[in-house]
Amino acid sequence: MPELPEVEQVRKTLSPHVVGQTIKEVEIRLPRLIQYPTAEEFAGKLKGKTIESIERRGKYLRLNVGKDTYILVHLRMTGALLAVAKTAPEPDYAKIRFVLTGPEDLWFTDIRTFGTLYLIDHDDKIIEGYATLGPEPVGKGLTADYLEKACLKKTGAIKAVILDQKIVAGLGNIYADEALFAAGILPTRQANKLTKEEYEKLVQAMKKVIAQGIKNHGTTFRNYQDADGHKGDNVRHLMVYGRKAEPCKVCGTALEQIKVAGRGSVYCPHCQK
Ligand SMILES: [Zn+2]
Repeated sequence: MPELPEVEQVRKTLSPHVVGQTIKEVEIRLPRLIQYPTAEEFAGKLKGKTIESIERRGKYLRLNVGKDTYILVHLRMTGALLAVAKTAPEPDYAKIRFVLTGPEDLWFTDIRTFGTLYLIDHDDKIIEGYATLGPEPVGKGLTADYLEKACLKKTGAIKAVILDQKIVAGLGNIYADEALFAAGILPTRQANKLTKEEYEKLVQAMKKVIAQGIKNHGTTFRNYQDADGHKGDNVRHLMVYGRKAEPCKVCGTALEQIKVAGRGSVYCPHCQK
């Protein structure tokens, strides 16, 4: 599932292809992907609108098509946004086609079809998951003090807290495991029992692993690709995620896997306390 660095990579690679382009038509082949408004209204309202810019917030992409008007996209498991030449064959798993004025069209493709799209048009419709997003890990809002306060009443595992999009926006299973390793903290630790120093270490670790993921164009395991169809190369920098039973790159101890917050979590029993 694409996390913040992968979504950021899509934003960067997609922008030069579609910003400034006007939408001539929207063909929707799987209407249920449009969560709001109806698929018909979605297509109708977008006709003639120009894509002015693309922003990212957490794992959401926001394609601005006018003042207070934007398409919100969440890729979920296997969604992708691709710019494809009109002369090229249509991409696999094509679900939505945005016919643009330029030489390329914008496609939303999805293998497992969990992706979601919304069109907000001056109507103050509240998209729950978007409106309640916590601070960005790479921004100024995420500090040790903030994390400590957010954990005050959290008696569950620290990993569940950093996966909660309301607390920090953009981390999923990969970067949560990597951040906990970098901070030397076990994923099962009770969230409100970390020391001040550990909150600080964890905040710095989240910033570090996310920045590294962005620098390496994201992490590709199976399906994720950017708007140019390229895969990210962060996988070779991963310390724990996907490395169950392999030796820790720092101390050589075999990495272990447990379930935390319903997610497989890989950690080093020696380096993480
Ligand atoms: Zn280790």
